[in-house]
Amino acid sequence: MKALTFKRGIFPPHGKHYTENKPIEVLMPAGDLVYPMIQHIGASCEPLVKKGDRVLVGQKIGEAKAFVSAPIHSTVSGIVKEVGPLLHPNGKKVVSVVVENDGQYEEDPSIGRPNDYKKMSREAILEKIKEAGIVGMGGAGFPTFIKLSPPIEKKIDTILLNGAECEPYLTSDHRVMLEETERVVEGLRIILHLFPGAKGYIAIEDNKKDAIAKMKEATKDDENIEVAILKTKYPQGSEKQLIYACTKREVPSGKLPADVGCIVQNIDTVVAIHRAIVRGRPLMRRIVTVTGGAIQNPKNFKVRIGTTYRELIEAAGGFKEDPVKIISGGPMMGTPLFSLDIPIIKTSSAILCLTKEETELSAERACIRCGKCVDVCPMNLLPLSLNFHSLHEEWDAFEKENGLDCMECGSCSYICPAKRHLLQSIRTGKQTVLMNKKK
Ligand code: SF4
Ligand code: SF4
Repeated sequence: MKALTFKRGIFPPHGKHYTENKPIEVLMPAGDLVYPMIQHIGASCEPLVKKGDRVLVGQKIGEAKAFVSAPIHSTVSGIVKEVGPLLHPNGKKVVSVVVENDGQYEEDPSIGRPNDYKKMSREAILEKIKEAGIVGMGGAGFPTFIKLSPPIEKKIDTILLNGAECEPYLTSDHRVMLEETERVVEGLRIILHLFPGAKGYIAIEDNKKDAIAKMKEATKDDENIEVAILKTKYPQGSEKQLIYACTKREVPSGKLPADVGCIVQNIDTVVAIHRAIVRGRPLMRRIVTVTGGAIQNPKNFKVRIGTTYRELIEAAGGFKEDPVKIISGGPMMGTPLFSLDIPIIKTSSAILCLTKEETELSAERACIRCGKCVDVCPMNLLPLSLNFHSLHEEWDAFEKENGLDCMECGSCSYICPAKRHLLQSIRTGKQTVLMNKKK
């Protein structure tokens, strides 16, 4: 069968060979755990603990006071050392709770109560997902219970599990699909239970043949689940492109997947849903790929949220050469890091440490109007023109040319022979237009 795909896109080198065949290792934290009170899109949480308090594994330490927010739980037992502003992976200082791990892993009595989702109401399932603090773990961090509660008039008939993992170097979702297959499938069944009559797809790029085989075997008796084989192409895993590849539906400008009857969920998010419902455990861990040419022994780790990036790098053997660039996430959409003394949060998927050979550091040159950026843009935008408008502060023109539709995939910057900083300028343009709108 021909692999499904979307229009345009690019084919960057994978870099997945470092870790794709490495089984996930459990890493127990050695140092203090740091929990920023914002690990999601939406309002910050309010700390529920103070210095000197003892906390337990799974205890809620950050309360979501707004609708768009998600509570935060301690992932170890120990004493609260500090509550105050500390460096966040986003580069800013945010209020955080620091817990000194006592190594006892004593659990809060409120967690660990199993449930049978088939006997639960829709409301009860959504409440559990909300209270478990689950957010989109593919990077966006949008609270999952909201995504699973679309307005009643939007009829959802398709649930897509995003197993594309199209970002180069990242292999955590791949390993989860191989090693936690049944949890992924059962998590999808829970979501399908919320939307009776809907069809589920587990969408996987064709460079992960072992995961495709495992998922096909695990779902062979599920009439409402299909494994969709996707062409290996970037950004295949972005929501709109995934929806188009699997259903041929186009999400219009300014609209959401629910407007075309779809909900997209990340692989690790679905495992978190399974854990919250079936095992009664809040979101406390995530799988992180530690990789790149500068890392001694690249690996995938199952790690407690709150563990520092530095600990993960040490657990991967440290650096074999000085990295030229360290990125949280993948090379296309990740965020450059300037400190390793920051915690793994709910949306941390990878630590990428690149060597000089793996990094392109050429200077920006004048546009030669080759049109390559236009050819690859999956959102059908004119990156060269948006770049011009942003640099000349022509915000009306920027908006008129649908600059806000840019999903910041970086394909235009990647392909540009003049090494124009297209993505950076378009990102600035988006931020400015949105700020002006707020004013
Ligand atoms: S790819 Fe670069 S050089 Fe070519 S048109 Fe776009 S901005 Fe100009
Ligand atoms: S303009 Fe935006 S969406 Fe289009 S290729 Fe560039 S970064 Fe991606």
